[in-house]
Amino acid sequence: MSALIIDGKAIAAKVRGEVAVQARELAARGVVPGLAVVLVGEDPASQVYVRNKTKAAREAGLTVFDHVLPASTGERDLLSLVERLNSAPQVDGILVQFPVPKQIDAQKVQRSIAPEKDVDGLHPESAGRLWAGHPSFVPCTPLGVMRLLKESGATLAGADAVVIGRSNLVGKPMVALLLAADATVTVCHSKTRNLAEVVRRADVVVAAIGRGEFVKGDWIKPGATVIDVGMNRNADGKLCGDVEFAAAAERARAITPVPGGVGPMTIALLLDNTVQAARRRLPR
Ligand code: NAP
Repeated sequence: MSALIIDGKAIAAKVRGEVAVQARELAARGVVPGLAVVLVGEDPASQVYVRNKTKAAREAGLTVFDHVLPASTGERDLLSLVERLNSAPQVDGILVQFPVPKQIDAQKVQRSIAPEKDVDGLHPESAGRLWAGHPSFVPCTPLGVMRLLKESGATLAGADAVVIGRSNLVGKPMVALLLAADATVTVCHSKTRNLAEVVRRADVVVAAIGRGEFVKGDWIKPGATVIDVGMNRNADGKLCGDVEFAAAAERARAITPVPGGVGPMTIALLLDNTVQAARRRLPR
């Protein structure tokens, strides 16, 4: 079998187009969605992420408020900036790019963001609301995965889904979303025994490990849908996912490539979350 390659770039472009339409509709009603992006320090990867997010947001018609702070910034200074953004009426979403320098407690920063502006979905209130089935902001990467699954035509109700990874950013919200979509979900992590056997039973595999080509092609059940969240460099310095792509594509029904799969979706769903946050400002 040769798998459908799920084109994350094209699907992300479609989502960004939908966001742009919504942003225009909101602007016509006097609400221009605003995203504050905060970068502390000069980590090159974070600079690239922030640049990409900012560019995509502006292209979709959002106003971006950039805040670049030196690596020596103290926790109190960052928290007071977040406080100002929490009460700034033009700011609908606040994104603090992680990781932050080590003198700053990342969890404290996540808790400081007003839940109604938590477009990254990392506030514990957002996480709790997701698990309890209340409306909430959901981290952008797992949201993007759900959209890819939908666009690929995967059946989730009753499916055996395996999520590898249990981070707050990807694995845990992924489990909550798949469960809400009526999948039977197994969560795997570094202490899981017989990972290969668990994956072999899965109709849907979401790999969010951070280890290049760790999931072997022959672990994939014929006909499964495989979503590869991992972003790694292989021995040749080339970008690769957590799944052995070519071998997995021989068996899967559908699979995401790396790059060009999940990555572009994360930014698109951040813009979508921001536009949804801006709806709060519409007159009732
Ligand atoms: P993370 O916080 O490091 O979590 C990695 C998870 O993988 C942990 O739960 C860990 O288990 C598990 N794990 C590690 N080794 C394992 C093993 N041998 N067997 C099974 N599970 C194992 O990473 P993350 O933030 O979730 O990100 C995961 C990957 O996705 C990374 O490559 C990251 O770059 C990528 N990512 C991509 C995007 C995107 O937009 N494309 C966004 C976010 C992340 P324990 O909990 O037991 O340690």
